Amino acid sequence: MKRVSVLGATGSIGQNTLDLIARAPDDYEVVALTGGRNLDQLAADAVRLRARRAVTCHDDAYSALKERLAGTGIAVAAGAAAVAEAATEPADWVMSAIVGAAGLVPGIEALKQGTSLALANKESLVTAGALVLGTARAHGATILPVDSEHSAVFQALVGEDMAAVERIIITASGGAFRDWPLERLATATLAEASQHPNWAMGQRITIDSASMFNKALELIEAHEFFGVAPDRIEAVIHPESLIHALVGFNDGALMAHVGPPDMRHAIGYALHWPERRHLPVARLDLAQIGQMTFRAPDLDRYPALGLARRVMEQGGLTGAAFNGAKERALDAFIAGHIGFLDMSRVVTEVLDKMSSQDGLQNVAMSLDTVLHTDRLARVRADEAIAQWNESA
Ligand code: NDP
Ligand code: MG
Repeated sequence: MKRVSVLGATGSIGQNTLDLIARAPDDYEVVALTGGRNLDQLAADAVRLRARRAVTCHDDAYSALKERLAGTGIAVAAGAAAVAEAATEPADWVMSAIVGAAGLVPGIEALKQGTSLALANKESLVTAGALVLGTARAHGATILPVDSEHSAVFQALVGEDMAAVERIIITASGGAFRDWPLERLATATLAEASQHPNWAMGQRITIDSASMFNKALELIEAHEFFGVAPDRIEAVIHPESLIHALVGFNDGALMAHVGPPDMRHAIGYALHWPERRHLPVARLDLAQIGQMTFRAPDLDRYPALGLARRVMEQGGLTGAAFNGAKERALDAFIAGHIGFLDMSRVVTEVLDKMSSQDGLQNVAMSLDTVLHTDRLARVRADEAIAQWNESA
């Protein structure tokens, strides 16, 4: 029996993870499930999968969750600290699928127990790559990438020597607005940005796909995780989302990972690693697909990609500032306070200000400095947004 915990169990990745676990209930012992506001889902899954502990990140939701689980014997807890504590419960495999920088501390706590961490939360590597990888090394933990592109690269690298890797290419669907005329982007609405052409995902990552902030996070994530120089990592638009990533070797070979756009593949690969097991994902019929197309991303349409280069080159705490500002800009777009194109303007302004004033490259990375930078970036983003709204 494999002891598993799922952090962010009520989300899109969390639910896909539970789908795989529920198909082989005798193989798994569910230690802890964590969620947020979706208490009905959390409680139902905790009962169904006989979890030992269910945790919501919201303090004020404790009684409501407790009520739902009364008489089940399942331990209940609430609050951010309780989520981090759930990650310390002994387990063989922990899924990190909380959205945003909130996933960093629980992921680090899981790594400290020397377990296998399936990492969907890309913000962990973006905000604190060196710290996360260092913690894994220090505690003998294994990080298994779950972002589909990074799982694809990871798989293409099996048995290969990193010294022979020339480049990593991750693909991007191009998101909801890939075919929109540039002038129309400024008026894109929340509903329009929340529709993904190929993947069913949480709302935040779906909007980040439309702006390509998601791809920006992924370029940084690849740079951190695989230790490949920024100029050897590229993104290419591939509207069909069938090739997830390619690795280019020094003999000119490109190893591509091809599969249907279904996150259960990457999740299942991480769940069964180092083995491969049968997974309930569609099998591709290449003759029926007929063709796959590619094009270079337009940097005017997707300024986030240029920002990703800057983050990779500056290094240090730049990723934490970038992500914090991006999360606030996204909050403001969702709340209707700024337009779609304003998100990258906010992030640019925050990075400009913090790079010159707050020494993002000169301060040593620790959990404290990362969290401080994250908070400061959010404050700076709010300031930038307030200033514009005043002058508008
Ligand atoms: P969702 O928004 O669908 O789910 C997020 C999960 O985190 C939910 O369980 C939510 O609880 C919980 N949560 C939200 N805020 C907090 C918080 N402050 N503290 C603790 N838990 C919280 O996200 P996704 O599943 O789409 O994405 C999860 C992560 O995986 C992200 O980092 C994303 O970038 C990454 N990822 C996602 C992919 C996808 O296909 N969805 C693909 C590749 C990477 P509740 O909903 O109950 O409030
Ligand atoms: Mg991805």
